[in-house]
Amino acid sequence: MPRIAYVNGRYLPAHDALVSIEDRGYQFSDGIYEVCEVRGGAIIDERRHLERLRRSLDALRIRLPVAPSALSVILRETIHRNRVRDGIVYVQMTRGVARRDFAFPPPGTAPSLVVTARSLDLAGNEKKAQQGITVVTVPESRWARPDIKSVSLLPNVLATQAARDRGAAEAWFVDRDGRVTEGASSNAWIVTPDRRVVTRPADNGILRGITRTVLIGVVKARNLLFEERPFTVEEAYGAGEAFVTAASQIVMPVVRIDDRPIGDGSPGPVAKALRESFHRHAEWS
Ligand code: PLP
Repeated sequence: MPRIAYVNGRYLPAHDALVSIEDRGYQFSDGIYEVCEVRGGAIIDERRHLERLRRSLDALRIRLPVAPSALSVILRETIHRNRVRDGIVYVQMTRGVARRDFAFPPPGTAPSLVVTARSLDLAGNEKKAQQGITVVTVPESRWARPDIKSVSLLPNVLATQAARDRGAAEAWFVDRDGRVTEGASSNAWIVTPDRRVVTRPADNGILRGITRTVLIGVVKARNLLFEERPFTVEEAYGAGEAFVTAASQIVMPVVRIDDRPIGDGSPGPVAKALRESFHRHAEWS
């Protein structure tokens, strides 16, 4: 079965799903994206993801190219046409196609909209979570607005490759003061030796992950002590547990950071319990 992509009003086999070389996403990474988890055929936390998509578009002054209700239909149709039960649906919007010029194109230029969906290996992810992943730290090298989910991801690409080159799954960015900002494609968390769950405040310096937002609710509902504050790499090395959150991974335990074992070097009980409860707190639609 060929993969199907939605491109500006049409559902096309992936090999025919093309955008212009003058698309501003291609020329300038002048666009934004969203990724939602699909589970059992339902979209997880769609409302929150579409709200964040709206905020990213507003920040870049790109208009939503279709009505919000139409976007929901397109997401579902793309999931359906690709027969995804468990996986992700990806949305990308750019400022559209125009002759190359940094300044915005003439008003009326239609933004481009692409939607794709693909299956994820749930059993494989579960196995990964049972083993835990390793993380390496890299200097923060991104622009000042990682809170906008922009397709401008070169530092994230380089950081992820640096992680892979060192046999790790994820990279954590570290600011000049030695504090962890977030992962290349996830938010970063630790659990202190006295079992306080810590994650950095969502200011302009990180993406406000939807999984992060929902998980803060889970942490509070389970009466765990929660601290929204920065933490350093040194504190992470000495943490009882560490984990990352993202729509495609939910809660993924981290068992090594820069070759140092975290806690006893295996996934911790807090991360496991949070992973297990997450979907009872998320919105299904
Ligand atoms: N931070 C970054 C840089 C990301 O790319 C992502 C997701 O891909 C996240 C955090 C987690 O966000 P969410 O939980 O909304 O998937």
